[in-house]
Amino acid sequence: EHYLQRIQQSGAILNSFITVTADQALERADAADQARAKGTASLLTGVPLALKDIFCTQGIKTSCGSRMLDNFDAPYDATVVEKLKTAGTVTLGKTNMDEFAMGSSNENSYYGPVKNPWDLTAVPGGSSGGSAAAVAAGLTPAALGTDTGGSIRQPAAFCGITGLKPTYGRVSRYGMIAYASSLDQAGPMARSAEDCAHLLNVMAGHDVRDSTCVARGVPDYAETLNAPLSGLKIGLPIEYFGEGLDPEVEKAVREAVSVYESLGATVRDVSLPHTHYAIPAYYVIAPAEASSNLSRFDGVRFGYRCDDPSDLIDLYKRSRAEGFGDEVQRRILIGTHTLSEGFFDAYYTKAQKVRRLIRQDFLDAFEDVDVLMGPASPTPAFDLGAKKDPVSMYLQDIYTIAVNLAGIPGISVPAGFAGGRPIGLQILGTHFAEAQLLNVAHQFQ
Ligand code: GLN
Repeated sequence: EHYLQRIQQSGAILNSFITVTADQALERADAADQARAKGTASLLTGVPLALKDIFCTQGIKTSCGSRMLDNFDAPYDATVVEKLKTAGTVTLGKTNMDEFAMGSSNENSYYGPVKNPWDLTAVPGGSSGGSAAAVAAGLTPAALGTDTGGSIRQPAAFCGITGLKPTYGRVSRYGMIAYASSLDQAGPMARSAEDCAHLLNVMAGHDVRDSTCVARGVPDYAETLNAPLSGLKIGLPIEYFGEGLDPEVEKAVREAVSVYESLGATVRDVSLPHTHYAIPAYYVIAPAEASSNLSRFDGVRFGYRCDDPSDLIDLYKRSRAEGFGDEVQRRILIGTHTLSEGFFDAYYTKAQKVRRLIRQDFLDAFEDVDVLMGPASPTPAFDLGAKKDPVSMYLQDIYTIAVNLAGIPGISVPAGFAGGRPIGLQILGTHFAEAQLLNVAHQFQ
């Protein structure tokens, strides 16, 4: 009731929710009370949660921030939604996001932009901007996001919360509307690493319905949060402290690193030499996969359909032209172009080779250090409307995107403020090092 009231009071100002499921939430809260009375409650029983509107929720609108799915009630629950429900959580509603998770500011949503609770003239980051803003403003204790190129970590940084992108394959993607299937990963967004650990405990694990979901045991992420950090080897990628980094962000990150030194960690510079190619490679691979994934939205099977089509081709064309926003159409055009005969090798195949080199950079670095630290974003949250040019928006992703290309996990934790806007420290680990990342993040908090 407390959170539903908060959503009612501030939800409209922030625009962080697309759908609020108050009745179902109250019912589930009653059931949680009963479980508690009977002594059958588990750790997450009754814990309220908000879900990015990219997760399918049975019988509940699942829009993915798009006009295309404005009329779509999903017929089933995503695996992570099902798992969290079984653990007893209470879904408060579905949060706003950039359309089909394409964006870094939440300004690409069909439902309008979300505002940053720390400063209503600033963006909350994207694409999981609604989830980040809702957690930061205390409209929910935690939320789910997805991260294809930074969409959990960057909004977490902009809103001063903690957000974890797990290793690719750690969490099932079943029922999560696909943007770029080889990069997408769901993760928790919460006020602390500890809360993220409890959520990941439930979310992680094998799922026969997602062939890329890895069959590997899930440790208890909460158990190792307090492991001492003495002897931890931290690497600072020199490419993450170069041109374009806001000096105040750099200062906050270096101060955070010195806190780790005082906890017994050692610090050294490392190099990720192909960092420079991450944005171009990502903005070939992600749109290519998106153009393929989004071909299912044809105005026939589900979603938006234009009025009075003259024939089938007109129906396809106008349903997609009217149902998708500008950024989504731009990416479909880029993706179909780079996948087309004659351009495929020059763009797509080349980008895949670059991706391999980027992955190798990280693996080489993790031969020498345990974790990498740097900023989550080159600047704190920028003003709403400040980045009209798509390329300047893409450049925002410089520190987050390579992580998805490599498939490794990353976490953003709050590390201070500049001009009243939060700054995020990003910590990266090798594949399946979530327990270590959560431990390291928790020691800072
Ligand atoms: N900003 C990136 C993009 O627009 C990443 C988005 C994401 O992680 N979903 O593609």
